[in-house]
Amino acid sequence: MSLMNTDLHSSLKKYFGFSKFKGLQEDVIRNILSDNDTFVIMPTGGGKSLCYQLPALMKEGTAIVVSPLIALMKNQVDAIRGISEQHGIAHVLNSSLTKTEVKQVKEDIVNGVTKLLYVAPESLTKEENVDFLKNVKLSFVAVDEAHCISEWGHDFRPEYRNLRGIINRLGDNIPIIGLTATATPKVQEDIIKNLGMTDAKVFKASFNRPNLFYEVRPKTKDVDADIIRFVKQNQGKSGIIYCLSRKRVEELAQVLQVNGISAVPYHAGFDAKTRSKYQDMFLMEEVDVVVATIAFGMGIDKPDVRFVIHHDIPKSIESYYQETGRAGRDGGEGHCLAYYAYKDVEKLEKFMSGKPVAEQEIGNALLQEIVAYAETSMSRRKFILHYFGEDFDEVNGEGADMDDNARNPKPKEEAKEEVVKLLNVVKDTKEKFKTKEIVKVLVGKTNAMISSHKTDEKSFFGIGKDKNKEFWMALTRQVLVAGLLKKEIERYGILHLTKEGKKYLDNPESFMMTKDHVYSKE
Ligand code: ADP
Repeated sequence: MSLMNTDLHSSLKKYFGFSKFKGLQEDVIRNILSDNDTFVIMPTGGGKSLCYQLPALMKEGTAIVVSPLIALMKNQVDAIRGISEQHGIAHVLNSSLTKTEVKQVKEDIVNGVTKLLYVAPESLTKEENVDFLKNVKLSFVAVDEAHCISEWGHDFRPEYRNLRGIINRLGDNIPIIGLTATATPKVQEDIIKNLGMTDAKVFKASFNRPNLFYEVRPKTKDVDADIIRFVKQNQGKSGIIYCLSRKRVEELAQVLQVNGISAVPYHAGFDAKTRSKYQDMFLMEEVDVVVATIAFGMGIDKPDVRFVIHHDIPKSIESYYQETGRAGRDGGEGHCLAYYAYKDVEKLEKFMSGKPVAEQEIGNALLQEIVAYAETSMSRRKFILHYFGEDFDEVNGEGADMDDNARNPKPKEEAKEEVVKLLNVVKDTKEKFKTKEIVKVLVGKTNAMISSHKTDEKSFFGIGKDKNKEFWMALTRQVLVAGLLKKEIERYGILHLTKEGKKYLDNPESFMMTKDHVYSKE
């Protein structure tokens, strides 16, 4: 289907009232209109929905939109119905519908009225629905929140794993559109593999949020007083404070109230009425601050949240990015402050200890990344974006000066010789160790894993003894971000030399490193 510019723009105007596409939208939509598989990776608020809604409205047949949350589906359907006279243009098909309602939905689909059909993955697995849908004209299947497919994502849903098989049964060559705001390469790989969309064209927007300021402070026993000071300095501004436990949420909300700050608590232990009351108070600006567990935030679209504080370190960089992403949506100021103490990490590890081993290993690998984020003294923005597979220029990039480390840089020192030692140890141990073992080998400490490989008998064992463990941890992180080493995520962090790393060994050059902040104990 080839389309003139004017057709596409006039449809955008007609259905949505917008005069311009946002970011990659137009390219995405053209790809969908040409019946190609499409993979869209855009941060929250990037305008993903329109990427499938507009082509669905323009194409013949019904587009199926798989979405994990009924509430989200209902919002979307209402919004689409708002732009059309035709009530049946968008429907939700789920188990809460009455027989009469189901009949109406099916009639609208058969009559070609319905352009968008929202379904939860569970409904799509029902035989009767598959039987019905395989006999109607479908334009494409959009899998929203596609990261739910991956155990490495922040919201794994096993039902998502069966989608490919079901889509195959709905017809031959139905185009698939996968959409997600999860930017980690590992999750993307899982999605492509699981949805069988190796030929899909990938559209990835930048995840940089240049207006957000990132800061980490050590968490001491005075953390509450520090939070109160921060909130008072930002009086009258909207903010979210995340805590790990419900108990802490209630305590901290009370402490803030006693100190004259207008705050409400929010967690999943309150009944629905109380929750929506507190949420509305925050949205309507009757209170400035909501102290919450991560139950708060899904689907919250308050554009002028000015700060997001993490009283406890989150469980992954991904979660941190999503949670801080609620700040500064309007492009204005957004301060993201996290308190960090290593003992909180141990608490999170303990939480996981009852879970299946594979889940624990994934959880620990993700946790190590957020520890590295907290302790690093390099550009925090560069660190986050590198985690998402994106290169960031910490000198000239947009938002380069927007973090604590960039504003107060630690002195740098030449570490060429040490980089060579590190890369050589990775190479000479045959690329089979994680950071932990590599650092041990460098400082000359052994463990079961190291001695089982007899690495402690090698000449290079202890070659970096003149520096401590923290130094080598910091250097490894910076060498990773510089792209000389790579972590194999599937095997929970085994280090490899990259092509650049090999080149570096052939021809070492200056490498200026900064030491990490020391918040953690041995
Ligand atoms: P996402 O699903 O990626 O989080 P949404 O689809 O909810 O993002 O879109 C975010 C906001 O951007 C919505 O308010 C939407 O109406 C708006 N939007 C989307 N496309 C455009 C556009 N082309 N022009 C202006 N606003 C847009």
